[in-house]
Amino acid sequence: MGKVIAIDGPGGAGKSTVSRIVGERLGFLHVDSGALYRIVTWQCLERGVDTGDPAAIAKAAEEISIEARPEAGRVAFFVDGEAPGDRIRTPQIDENASKVAREKPVRDKVTAMLRSLAALGDIVVEGRDITTAVFPDSPARFYLTASAEARAERRRRQEAGKGIAGRTREEVKAALAARDAMDSSRKYAPLRKADGAVEIDSSDLTLEETVEALLAALPAEYGAARAAGGRTGA
Ligand code: C5P
Repeated sequence: MGKVIAIDGPGGAGKSTVSRIVGERLGFLHVDSGALYRIVTWQCLERGVDTGDPAAIAKAAEEISIEARPEAGRVAFFVDGEAPGDRIRTPQIDENASKVAREKPVRDKVTAMLRSLAALGDIVVEGRDITTAVFPDSPARFYLTASAEARAERRRRQEAGKGIAGRTREEVKAALAARDAMDSSRKYAPLRKADGAVEIDSSDLTLEETVEALLAALPAEYGAARAAGGRTGA
């Protein structure tokens, strides 16, 4: 089993970007657990499943087969041999993902899959319940957060960059708040800061400062000092 860096936090906190860079610096595979919940949601919608119907979601979750493969520094996911790409990044998936993710059969399936990925090597895994439920014993656990304003502005820029939607910051902020509220209040594995997790508030930090804060807080056996030193030439 490889080493695990576990990162949780609300939407738009920068988890994906930070995890990707930390993974690159340390040679850990990046695992985006939200992509798995998005894939299950996408497949539910493709099959015409009502996301308010727990039994129908459970049945679909059982049927869906997701394949995981290391690819260019990350773990890539495939459904029927195809990468989902931006089909899982639409506002419709955003709206429905929390409803699908609150169902226990979905969580059990994704959790089992995430745990199995540690056999591939060292991984940096980001999501909502990685520090509390999936890898609660990892010595490297982080809660990455930022103000609602900062998170909404980052997400709006990301969407604009991808040519998606054209929502205003207020609209993005309201959608993020609705999703966070559902993710934090659900019965199974709600989003919360784990006891003992290191909290990093990136509201007033640059991306580089956020990455450095995380690397600096890693246990020595993770080789973070080497990664930071290598970068500065020290
Ligand atoms: O991180 P991302 O925005 O892609 O996650 C989409 C949704 O998947 C979240 O709003 C949440 O409902 C769910 N999720 C989860 N547990 C995780 C990762 C994501 O419930 N570990």
